[in-house]
Amino acid sequence: MCQFCHRHGEGQRWYLQARNYSEDLLNDLSRRRLIETFIGDPEYFGKGLRMLEALSRLPPYVRAVIGPIALRIQKRYHWGQVLPIEEIERIFVFVNSIVRLPCLCRQATVGSEQRYCYALSMVPHERSRLIELVRSVGSSYLTGPDTGGLEVLSKEQALASLRLVERKGLCHTVWTFKTPFIGSICNCDRSDCLAMRATLSMGYPMMFRAEYTAEVNRDLCNGCRRCMRACQFGAMGYSVATEKVVIDPRRCYGCGICRASCARRAIVLAEHSSTRG
Ligand code: SF4
Ligand code: SF4
Repeated sequence: MCQFCHRHGEGQRWYLQARNYSEDLLNDLSRRRLIETFIGDPEYFGKGLRMLEALSRLPPYVRAVIGPIALRIQKRYHWGQVLPIEEIERIFVFVNSIVRLPCLCRQATVGSEQRYCYALSMVPHERSRLIELVRSVGSSYLTGPDTGGLEVLSKEQALASLRLVERKGLCHTVWTFKTPFIGSICNCDRSDCLAMRATLSMGYPMMFRAEYTAEVNRDLCNGCRRCMRACQFGAMGYSVATEKVVIDPRRCYGCGICRASCARRAIVLAEHSSTRG
C-alpha cells in the first residue's frame, strides 16, 4: 500500500474510503478556493507547466534540494494514483454522481477541450457541492471544439466510456484537491498529461503507482508485441530467446493498459501489499 493508505485510509486503500469523497471535506473553505482556482484560472495549469519545465532545466544539485520540497507540497494539494479499471468499479459502488468534464491539464498542454475528466461525488449531482462549484465558476473553461456543458453519466455509461479510453491507451488516475479529498478520475497519457510528463519525463513525481503489477502468462503470449506499444511507462520488453514479452516490475505502474490491448488475455494484474511511495 502507498503512504496515503496509511495516512488517509486507516490501513486500507485510501481511494476506497468513502469519506475521502465526502461533502464534509468540501466545507473546508481553503479546499473550495483551491478548486475554484483550478477551474476558474485558465492560466493555472499553463503556469504549472512552465514552472515544471524551468525546474527540469536546473542543475542536478539544485533539483536535489528543490525536488523533495516540491514533492511534499504536491502531495498536500494535488496528487494522483494510477488505478486499473477494477478499482474504479469498486469506487463506483459508493459514489453517487459522475459528471464528465474537459481535462484542464490538456487545455494547457494541447490547447483544446478534451473530455477525459470525471468529477465524482457522494451525493446526486443536483446536490453535489463540487458540481455547484464548477457551475459557479462558469463555463469559460469549456473552450471547444466538443463543448457540451457538463455531462451527467450513469455508472454504466461512465464505465463503458472508461473502457473505451483504456483501449485507446489512456491510463486511469484518481486525483486529490487538497489531500485527502478526491474530486475526480482522469485519463492520462505521456505526451499530453502534465502530471505524467512531470512524473516520467521531468523527474518530478505527481502520482503513486497502482497497487498492482502486470504479469504475462507465457503459455498464452504469442509475442505479437501489441501490448508493448500500449505501455506508456516503458515497462515492457521483448525476449528474442523466448519470443514473448517480459515486464519489468520496477517500472510497471499497474495501469492495466497492456492487458486491455491483448486479444489473447495473456496479461493479468497481480495485487501487491508492500508499503511504497
Ligand atoms: S499483446 Fe498479448 S499476445 Fe501480444 S505480446 Fe502482448 S501479451 Fe503477448
Ligand atoms: S506493463 Fe502494463 S500495467 Fe505495467 S505500466 Fe505498462 S501498460 Fe501499465
